[in-house]
Amino acid sequence: MGDREEVARDLLETARFYASLSGVGLARRPAVDASREAPGEAQAATGDGDESAAAALKDVRESLGDCQRCKLAPTRRNIVFGQGNPNARLMFVGEAPGADEDEQGLAFVGKAGQLLTRIIEAIGLRREDVFIANVLKCRPPQNRNPEPDEIESCQPFLERQVAVIRPTVIVGLGKFAGQWLLKTAEPISRIRGRVGHYGGIKVIPTYHPAYLLRNPAAKKEVWDDMKIVRDLLRE
Ligand code: URA
Repeated sequence: MGDREEVARDLLETARFYASLSGVGLARRPAVDASREAPGEAQAATGDGDESAAAALKDVRESLGDCQRCKLAPTRRNIVFGQGNPNARLMFVGEAPGADEDEQGLAFVGKAGQLLTRIIEAIGLRREDVFIANVLKCRPPQNRNPEPDEIESCQPFLERQVAVIRPTVIVGLGKFAGQWLLKTAEPISRIRGRVGHYGGIKVIPTYHPAYLLRNPAAKKEVWDDMKIVRDLLRE
């Protein structure tokens, strides 16, 4: 491909990304080209492998039980364990459940979640191809920031989820996820878009979708980061 064609393709992709995040047409249908295998083929292709990851995740969920390990337990409605493909090549880690997630027991189902769905689709995947979890599994009151003791109590469960799923790439959404994954205190503006590692798994921190809702100008950076993710999944 010539330079000019490459620039034109990049511009078109960027326009599609912006349009898809604003809910305007132009969005490409997800092609699922970066997934490990086509949906439906997964069970047949790897048989026990797939089922064992699902079973191991179930074990992690069971060991969490009706968790009372931290001070968030009395105010939560539901534990939000996270959901998606147990054999995902791409995993997203967010901060903590909000009101909608607490209500439904599912990660990223509110406004920020809808935006996350569009971000996933912009790189040719579907929500069900990836796994989505959070640093905290219970909603902090009034959506305040996670506190260090809460992060510490929840950490073994996220560690076990990552160890079971063993994705190729983890996207850390926002400061808390990015810092937890990379074990750093650097600000998200400094760590985003740089490939780091969590136990040998590639990590790309990017801005949280809730931040994007408040600061649409940051879409450009998120798109740059998601192009890196797409390329890493193609390697
Ligand atoms: N924000 C998060 O960080 N996680 C969710 O699940 C929802 C909103």
